[in-house]
Amino acid sequence: MTYTSPVPVTDGRFYEGSALEISGLVMAYGDVEVLRDVSLSVAPGTTTCVIGPSGSGKSTLLRGVNRLHEPKAGSVRIADDDALSLRPDELRRRVGLVFQHFNLFPDHTALQNVALALHDVKRLPKREAERIALARLTEVGLAEREGHRPRDLSGGQQQRVAIARALAMEPEVMLFDEATSALDPELVKGVLTLMAGLARRGMTMLVVTHEMNFARKVADQVVFMDEGRVVESGTPSRIFDDPQSERLRLFLSEVL
Ligand code: ADP
Ligand code: MG
Repeated sequence: MTYTSPVPVTDGRFYEGSALEISGLVMAYGDVEVLRDVSLSVAPGTTTCVIGPSGSGKSTLLRGVNRLHEPKAGSVRIADDDALSLRPDELRRRVGLVFQHFNLFPDHTALQNVALALHDVKRLPKREAERIALARLTEVGLAEREGHRPRDLSGGQQQRVAIARALAMEPEVMLFDEATSALDPELVKGVLTLMAGLARRGMTMLVVTHEMNFARKVADQVVFMDEGRVVESGTPSRIFDDPQSERLRLFLSEVL
């Protein structure tokens, strides 16, 4: 598989600092605050994995970054831009999101699922959108499945279509929310291998995962969240081999 684009900073601009910078982020559902003062930054071309117990706010964090749910306070910066003042469609073009459940359109083929956003969001003519879509499907190893509908693909293949769809927009940052949690065990590895390949090729990624081996091997930085806060962050070896807090020790004893 060759993978040449997208790379961070695809638009030719140069900037210093983070590709993604979250600071003091507060998020609430109604009156209930579920993220409190969360800060983290992801350097261009690096991968940050977010780990933590169920309900700790990991999905909410990703939803705040691309504003599927509007933050209550704090800031999110994408390269040099304030994400909270970008138009939502521009933000979602620049920040790709892959969900646990692939959210493909059931009545569209794999090719159409990938081409649709190129047509709708990037306003590319149909033929051009399909040309790029096929290139992206080829990169995720699914060129020969382009005419299949989601129900005729395995869960792992569906997730790879969803990843191809996100990549087709040439995002600067990719967010993954437990991308392998809904897959049968034998299908997990192929998707993780694809994600590891993206990381190796310099995609900037923020990855919520329960796959501790993936986090250990692929992440440049691991962030441990609990009860809506970042409890600890650091290199994989710092987090997994030398946890500082009782909460992280307890979490690791349950998942490792
Ligand atoms: P995680 O992804 O780490 O499991 P979530 O971000 O999904 O955690 O949830 C964080 C907290 O927010 C939990 O207490 C959850 O019950 C609550 N929550 C999540 N989504 C909603 C929602 N749409 N409405 C109200 N509360 C929510
Ligand atoms: Mg979640």
